[in-house]
Amino acid sequence: MASLHVAVIGGGFAGAATALHLVRRGARVTLLERDPIAGAHASSQNAGMLRTAIADPALARVAVAGARGLEQAQTWADAPLVRPSGSLLLASGAELDALRAVVPALKELRRNAEWIEPAAATARVPALAGTSFDAALWTPEDGVADTAAYLAALLRGARQDGATLRLGTEVTSGDPGDESRPARLATEKGVIEADAVVIAAGAWSDVVAGRLGLPLRGLVPYRRHLHATGPFPSVDPGWPFVWALGDEVYFRPESGGLLLSPCDEEPFEPGEPPADPENRALLARKVAATFPALVDLPVMRSWAGLRTFAPDRRFVLGRDPTAPRVFWAAGLAGHGMTCAWEIGRIVADSALGLAPAPAEFDPARRR
Ligand SMILES: Cc1cc2nc3c(=O)[nH]c(=O)nc-3n(C[C@H](O)[C@H](O)[C@H](O)COP(=O)(O)OP(=O)(O)OC[C@H]3O[C@@H](n4cnc5c(N)ncnc54)[C@H](O)[C@@H]3O)c2cc1C
Repeated sequence: MASLHVAVIGGGFAGAATALHLVRRGARVTLLERDPIAGAHASSQNAGMLRTAIADPALARVAVAGARGLEQAQTWADAPLVRPSGSLLLASGAELDALRAVVPALKELRRNAEWIEPAAATARVPALAGTSFDAALWTPEDGVADTAAYLAALLRGARQDGATLRLGTEVTSGDPGDESRPARLATEKGVIEADAVVIAAGAWSDVVAGRLGLPLRGLVPYRRHLHATGPFPSVDPGWPFVWALGDEVYFRPESGGLLLSPCDEEPFEPGEPPADPENRALLARKVAATFPALVDLPVMRSWAGLRTFAPDRRFVLGRDPTAPRVFWAAGLAGHGMTCAWEIGRIVADSALGLAPAPAEFDPARRR
């Protein structure tokens, strides 16, 4: 097993974490990234929130293990990777019911979480004055990650243990191989032969599968916007991130001001999505309706990125049902940064034949 050569396609969180776990298990790894730098897409465009309080217990398990992974990745980082701010999920009615099971699920995973009254939540974040909700889920070990530093740490760890990172190397076509012959990936810089291939190409994962002649997994990228305000004095940088469920709008402190999203979801072609100027108006409407203490925020910068979903919104991890040498690390939705470490572990174990990926993430499942 130690001599297995694995080609990982994509240099975002999914590919970097998988490469790291593969080399630590003795595999030879070539990480292929199309761009001249790694992580230029979703992995650098996200909100950096380490959120483990997720209603789907399958995702929550991966998120808790993923969040713990950042402590291990600290080994390869020069600065702290996490600001442990905690998180507040505001809920009422159906959203509250949907989250009921989260507290026992997190407790089972030895993660603290508790429901608190609106007054207690507002005491933590005075900007919630005037916000209407029944209860808030307080998860104190959640926090905000330095996403650039985290990705750099994963890549550094992978390279230290021998992974080769080939930037500016796009997989343009290929043959997935079979039991008797290796996979072959064509790039403009030559052909790469590998015992196993990992598709970790984010929004392009189904595009890559198509280039290898494999059936697509139904992955759809959705555009989402983020907006950063300029600094303003009433923001305490120690606030937790605050997510109003149901209304679907969130904010967290950033550089003396706030980073916010109106949680928009719009199907989008794989690519570099432009920010729609109209989205600021959507944000303003949602903030006015949900966080009246935050109206008229001075938005300074807006951008958009792609979150990629399988039809059932669960990750797509592990062996391809049609090609025994091909493995998936895709469909990471809005949780790919939080979950990266654990996703890398699951996919590395699957690619090296050590353990299959959990059935709920099986690329072959009915969705
Ligand atoms: C607005 C927004 C907010 C988010 N907020 C959070 C958050 O707060 N917390 C959280 O945990 N997650 C968050 N996410 C989700 C998280 O960012 C993603 O799940 C994660 O970054 C996906 O990583 P990835 O490696 O799968 O994809 P990507 O980062 O897109 O990486 C895929 C890579 O594959 C490369 N590639 C594509 N095709 C090829 C090819 N043919 N050959 C070689 N390379 C190729 C691409 O160039 C790219 O670099 C957010 C996402 C967005 C967009």
